[in-house]
Amino acid sequence: MNKKPYLETMPDENGFFGEFGGAFIPPQLEKPFAEITRAYMKLSKSHDYLNELRNIRKHYQGRPTPVYYCKNLSDAIGGGQIYLKREDLNHTGAHKLNHCMAEALLAKYLGKKKLIAETGAGQHGVALATAAAYFGLECEIHMGEVDIAKEHPNVVRMKILGAKVVPATHGLKTLKEAVDSAFEAYLKDTENQLFAIGSVVGPHPFPKMVRDFQSVVGIEAREQFMEMTGKLPDMVTACVGGGSNAMGIFSGFIDEDVKLYGVEPMGKGDKIGEHSASLTYGKEGVMHGFRSIMLCDENGEPAPVHSIGSGIDYPSVGPEHAYLSKIGRTQIGHCNDLEAVDAFYKLSQYEGIIPALESAHAVAFAMKYAAENPNESILVNLSGRGDKDIDFVVENYPIPQKK
Ligand SMILES: *Cc1c(COP(=O)(O)O)cnc(C)c1O
Repeated sequence: MNKKPYLETMPDENGFFGEFGGAFIPPQLEKPFAEITRAYMKLSKSHDYLNELRNIRKHYQGRPTPVYYCKNLSDAIGGGQIYLKREDLNHTGAHKLNHCMAEALLAKYLGKKKLIAETGAGQHGVALATAAAYFGLECEIHMGEVDIAKEHPNVVRMKILGAKVVPATHGLKTLKEAVDSAFEAYLKDTENQLFAIGSVVGPHPFPKMVRDFQSVVGIEAREQFMEMTGKLPDMVTACVGGGSNAMGIFSGFIDEDVKLYGVEPMGKGDKIGEHSASLTYGKEGVMHGFRSIMLCDENGEPAPVHSIGSGIDYPSVGPEHAYLSKIGRTQIGHCNDLEAVDAFYKLSQYEGIIPALESAHAVAFAMKYAAENPNESILVNLSGRGDKDIDFVVENYPIPQKK
């Protein structure tokens, strides 16, 4: 008998990947989340929904994005062959629009009028505001006051796109407070609003839904890589914050004999507050409505985290990553701030591609791996472009002389 594809067997109907996942939510949220789950289960098999999504991907987002062979970079390293899946060429410059368009389409089918979410660095807010504009939905983005000051260009983008940006003014005024503020606003009207989570995290059904929406990346990449080389890659890698771009590309290879490495940000040290390597240093527990592996302080509260890639400094990780890592299907790769900056400049100077600092973590790990594994081919998910990071990088790390 044929084995069922992994993606059809996981998660179970309650959203568990082994012991991870589920929905640990207050009673008021049980009904709206059950409604979203029911609707998604039905729509994920609906011809009209899938067809509309395919059309959007092709004509609005510009998919498929190419797979590109980095000849110069591979030659310079003198090891394995490095390929990129170019999600930086997806509309808005990152993979996030893949799930935001699908979430907004879901909202439309559910008859909702408004999308609501929190954002940290503003990347999810911009992608969601883009999707809201396309579908003619209202969009309300909650953001910590500190982040609003830090991420000014993304705040302006959201406003230009017609979204309302609501500052979270309590506590530390960053992501955690933005989550509280967004949930509070969502609870006031679950009838007309959809809470749109920005990664493979949160209560069921979001980890499954967002993975399914991102799986287009892996499905395309598998076919493109086969067409280019006649084979599958030996190793596939991506950076892991919440883990959506990694699950997206892993989805295309999970049933194959292909090594999968999720790269965690090692920041500037191994003490709490210096990194955001949840799988590496974390422990099992429940945070933000789901069971996973997370970084906590002594009181069980989310620990402070750091990464130079502002989209990957999250104290937990999607439950599916916790599961796949625990059963040994995926491995953990590491990259610190300085290695990410080095990869940022190397990819720019060798290939003419400026990567997002988040994506540069995966490139840096691929470079290390290629040096050690000269006979392998490596596929990296280049989750986004680096325009947003250029000012910060050049102000803090001088541009190296090209060799
Ligand atoms: C948000 C973001 C990430 C991290 O999110 P995941 O859910 O871990 O993929 C990675 N790269 C870019 C460019 C991002 O904007």
